[in-house]
Amino acid sequence: MRRFVFRRVIFGIALALVAAVVPAEAGARGQSEFTYTTPHYIVTTDISPRFTEIVGRHMEEIYKEYSRRFADFGQAEGRFRVRVFRREQDYWQHIPAGARGATGVFVERERLLAAHAQDRTGEEVLRTLYHEGLHQFVYQLVSRDCPVWLNEGLAEYFAEATWDGRGFSLGLVPTTRLRVLKSAIEEGTYLPFRELFEMDGDMWIQNARTDALAARLNYSQAWSIIHFLIHADEGAHAPRLNRLLRAIADDVGQDEALRQAFGPDLNLQAFERAWAGYVMSLEPSPKFRCREGMEAIMLLAMNYYEDVREFRSVARLRRALMQGRRTRWEIRRPGGERISSRDPEQVARLFRCPLDGGGHEVSHVVVSDPGNGLPILVCTHHPGIVVKAYYERSRDGLRVRVEEEVRDLMSPEFRNALGAAMR
Ligand SMILES: [Zn+2]
Ligand SMILES: [Zn+2]
Repeated sequence: MRRFVFRRVIFGIALALVAAVVPAEAGARGQSEFTYTTPHYIVTTDISPRFTEIVGRHMEEIYKEYSRRFADFGQAEGRFRVRVFRREQDYWQHIPAGARGATGVFVERERLLAAHAQDRTGEEVLRTLYHEGLHQFVYQLVSRDCPVWLNEGLAEYFAEATWDGRGFSLGLVPTTRLRVLKSAIEEGTYLPFRELFEMDGDMWIQNARTDALAARLNYSQAWSIIHFLIHADEGAHAPRLNRLLRAIADDVGQDEALRQAFGPDLNLQAFERAWAGYVMSLEPSPKFRCREGMEAIMLLAMNYYEDVREFRSVARLRRALMQGRRTRWEIRRPGGERISSRDPEQVARLFRCPLDGGGHEVSHVVVSDPGNGLPILVCTHHPGIVVKAYYERSRDGLRVRVEEEVRDLMSPEFRNALGAAMR
């Protein structure tokens, strides 16, 4: 164990520079493929039978959710193909030339949803497929000519959905998205609605290719407008979103569709002001606050212990960090926020899940990874899911990943390890 006195580490930069890591066996040719079929999808991956089934089950459930939310638009016929590639290179080889989408894509004429899993967590792959699956749903059942902000906003909205093995929660507010949006509103750098609504698919893609920050903001802005329409003022605007989609489906053109949805006196500036006020009033959802806390604990453990495998008790790490009189420290999170021994309240908060009703000092448990022996931090206070924070080896050392998993779909090995840690 090492003391870290006045140690200043800028994690954000270190994490941002981590390069893609390909498992060695992924290069082998002639790998097996696995298929899982559901009423609406045929899923094929080169990853594992278990992952293929997980993708299939999630996709079928999200499909039900799209249909439930847009009940007026009917049901798609036939099955769609979903392909997930372990390597990005194989993904690019299998999607048609000219198809756009760095991590995932919906290929209209092939009825194909595709994504790759290279350097991405299973959860990230599923969220990409939720996003692309929504595009497929809109294309097939609503319109082939849906305004891009609306299409991308809906896709992002569904990409944030949480399936807990029984149903979906939609509308949770992620910390990072909210941070990006609030600062864009404060600095006046978001796109005025008039400009956003006029962007076509080519402009959107062009933007995404040339300016990563602007692209991230565009997606989040589109997400937040959908969020506003569905959730603001206790859902009072939701019928407008339905009318808008109906009018888009009727192919009346966007300006007319907006008039049909919002009334002839639609004032875009007033709409924009109401949206900005709404976004500024939002707070991150408890699930995301928990995830942020867990990520910070893992970063702290990585710095506190010479070898992270020494991290076996959350309570012990907490005690060591909280007696900060002689060991002062500070870290900076990927999002830029500082955490330091000078603010013991803030440190104590990291260790408590907002969904933990028990009033414990420590909400999480450490499980030893059955595969590599590294510690996994787990939160079991979320209905239907577990949240895991773990280390991944990369060229530059360890990086922290946070991922949620449906409790009923946990691997038997992990379930046993978690059971042992909870006893
Ligand atoms: Zn999209
Ligand atoms: Zn939690």
